[in-house]
Amino acid sequence: MKSINIVVMAMILAGCTGGSGQTQTTAADTAEVKNYRWKMITTWPKNLPGLGAAPERLAQKLRVMSAGRLDIKVYGAGELVGALEVFDAVSQGTAQMGHGAAYYWRGKIPAAAFFATVPFGMNAQEMNGWLHYGGGLELWRELYAPFNLVPFAAGNSGVQMAGWFNKEINSVDDLKGLKMRIPGLGGEVLARAGGTPVVLPGGEIYTALQTGVIDATEWVGPYNDLAFSLHTAAKYYYYPGWHEPGPTLEAMVNKEAWDSLPADLQMMIEVATRAINDDMLSEFTARNNAALVTLVQEHGVQLRRLPDDVLVKLKAISKEVVAEAALENELAERIHNSYTTFQQDVARYHSYSEQAYLNAR
Ligand code: CA
Repeated sequence: MKSINIVVMAMILAGCTGGSGQTQTTAADTAEVKNYRWKMITTWPKNLPGLGAAPERLAQKLRVMSAGRLDIKVYGAGELVGALEVFDAVSQGTAQMGHGAAYYWRGKIPAAAFFATVPFGMNAQEMNGWLHYGGGLELWRELYAPFNLVPFAAGNSGVQMAGWFNKEINSVDDLKGLKMRIPGLGGEVLARAGGTPVVLPGGEIYTALQTGVIDATEWVGPYNDLAFSLHTAAKYYYYPGWHEPGPTLEAMVNKEAWDSLPADLQMMIEVATRAINDDMLSEFTARNNAALVTLVQEHGVQLRRLPDDVLVKLKAISKEVVAEAALENELAERIHNSYTTFQQDVARYHSYSEQAYLNAR
């Protein structure tokens, strides 16, 4: 008798009715379902393919995975805040989430550049290894914590192109006086080679190049550069992208907004950003080749490799710039040491694996 009573009590508590087996929604159930309507601001022009597709796909995945509980509206650069105001706006809670690249915030936190890309540094595969299995992400979260932000890797373009120029680069002297759009530590390297680096958000590059405000620009690679029609503003397209060998794009979440989420929605963000991180690299890998063929064969773009002596010089300057980035403070030194140690170790193994294979193929 006692055990039957327990079963009946359990059925009542579970909200079961009579013999129908149907469940009724209780007040407790209703309280558990909370919907979150968020804003995600980005540094990319609205509807830009490639980089701009990442935040849209991220929001779409989260909406479906959460059955609408986490509904994020994506804003392009300038719609809510300017492209280079994303970090501050998410930090202050103007939007709960942002998508950009960590080197855009180098003026505020110099060590942030390590979480985007380092000249002559790690490629996409190596960056992902460092971030997710080499302690990189923990350091990134420590760096952003005082700014009320939780960062995630959320995209990678792979090795970029060196950029668009209106004159040939035949020696290091050709970089002198060159006014070039190039963000991050690469910009500092160009400055020491005699050029003038300019930081412009993507949406302002084309006009600046076409009107002569800048002499040259880097952007991403064939797929995204074709989308901006940069070939109509410059003739020579140089490789390799020594300054951005595998830049990580970032998603960042305001700390209070993050803490307000239940564990399952937090896990969905963790998983969806990892998916987007991989998705972007896959898309660029698939589309860059076809876009380069279009640029060269249909638009007559002059493809050029940077001369060896230019690359040797830029590499030497990069070593100085990267070493100096460690001097800012104790955390910057730990980030620098973690990054450079991981790169040395992974490069040694990759000389027997990825690099040896690519050389042999
Ligand atoms: Ca770039």
